[in-house]
Amino acid sequence: MYNPYSLRAESFIDHAEILDTLAYARENAQNTSLCADILAKAAQKKGLTHREATVLLFNKDPEVTKAMERLAKQIKLDLYGNRIVIFAPLYLSNYCINGCVYCPYHAKNKHIARKKLTQEEIIREVTALQDMGHKRLAIEAGEDPIHNPISYILECIDTIYHIHHKNGSIRRVNVNIAATTEKEYRMLKEAGIGTYILFQETYHKASYEKLHPTGPKHDYAYHTEAMDRAMAGGIDDVGLGVLFGLENYPYELVGLLMHAEHLEAVHGVGPHTISVPRIKRADDINPDDFDNGIDDDTFAKICTIIRLAVPYTGMIISTRESKSVRERLLPLGISQISGGSKTSVGGYVTPESEEDNSQQFDVSDQRTLDEVIAWLLELGYIPSFCTACYREGRTGDRFMSFCKSGQIQNFCHPNALITLQEYLQDYASPHTKQIGESLLPELLEQIPNSATREKTRQYLQEIAQKNARDFRF
Ligand code: SAM
Repeated sequence: MYNPYSLRAESFIDHAEILDTLAYARENAQNTSLCADILAKAAQKKGLTHREATVLLFNKDPEVTKAMERLAKQIKLDLYGNRIVIFAPLYLSNYCINGCVYCPYHAKNKHIARKKLTQEEIIREVTALQDMGHKRLAIEAGEDPIHNPISYILECIDTIYHIHHKNGSIRRVNVNIAATTEKEYRMLKEAGIGTYILFQETYHKASYEKLHPTGPKHDYAYHTEAMDRAMAGGIDDVGLGVLFGLENYPYELVGLLMHAEHLEAVHGVGPHTISVPRIKRADDINPDDFDNGIDDDTFAKICTIIRLAVPYTGMIISTRESKSVRERLLPLGISQISGGSKTSVGGYVTPESEEDNSQQFDVSDQRTLDEVIAWLLELGYIPSFCTACYREGRTGDRFMSFCKSGQIQNFCHPNALITLQEYLQDYASPHTKQIGESLLPELLEQIPNSATREKTRQYLQEIAQKNARDFRF
């Protein structure tokens, strides 16, 4: 029986409730006045239920789609401004004992190069990332209790936080590793991680079991209940995601929103982020095993609906997507993107070669971080390397109430300018520096509180003239 308060996966992601929702939405989606009511509710920025969101998903009227997009853009601007937070993935190890049929790291793949970074190699990778300008990483690893036990992950996090090269530092480490125990989540919390990210892959239990035929990840309930264990272990910020293409997307969207509702119901705070990866071609996977790929229009509609349904949850788009797809999605509610990414173990120092390939999948957006930053500035976005909320303890429900109180423009906006100024001074090419510096005075004037504005002005000068770093509100 469906129960968002239950701690059992099969109750909070109840299959029958998903099927009922899909049937209800199919029946009611062309009802214009119902859609208008749902849009009016979304405009209050209080979110939508999974049923309401699914009605919008099935609506076929292009005018409704346009209205949804207009609203998503407005919500994005009201709640996140034009800032886009920047991060990079860091692949620690591709040893894996799971059998995920869509992932080249699956245990049966015998020709992919298996690698695990030593602490010295981590120092080299992170130094390269710092030299690009990154301040925020998402660490990635396969699941392997022998090669990548929790002690290894903790050691890597500690190493990463202690690397200070020139003006560089990694100020927030997010973690994307397999579902684990409450005890190990507590260890990650104590190690000072930012968000714990775990993609559900698919919410459809029968498909999930087929797609994960072997290894610990086969256990649907253990995987689906991971965020509850993470939150019980003290992790405030968790990141959900579906790997689009594995199952049919309406089922996935309903499951994803039900998961968000469950976290809100049980823990009083919804997911910090939602990622929307689409499956990519990769070594030793058979793309014919998944015939649920979604086109760009559908993908844009899904992102739009997520923005309306969970307005206070950040949305992440990675370099799996091309420049043009990312450009289309940015205004619809994306708040974080990766840039200059490598998806191989050691790839920031050693480029991939045919013979020695440890890469997870091809990235579509292969631009350098500097090119991504220039592109964002030219499009009118403010690239932000800010990590202040997490470092000031504004996480979980404190972050959510901070967002809801409308203080973002007095905190996130100046913090974005401060970190952009650091980037321009330390890492930008002359072209990017010139664009950024020409925009900063105007962006400074947009800070509503005059005291904060003056303080920010002073910080920007000290960064440029006195080599001072790491100011934050
Ligand atoms: N091993 C961890 C786990 O099991 O959750 C997570 C790390 S894995 C490096 C990160 C994510 O990459 C997976 O959760 C999956 O969604 C995604 N992924 C795997 N194969 C992919 C592919 N062929 N194309 C796109 N994304 C893929």
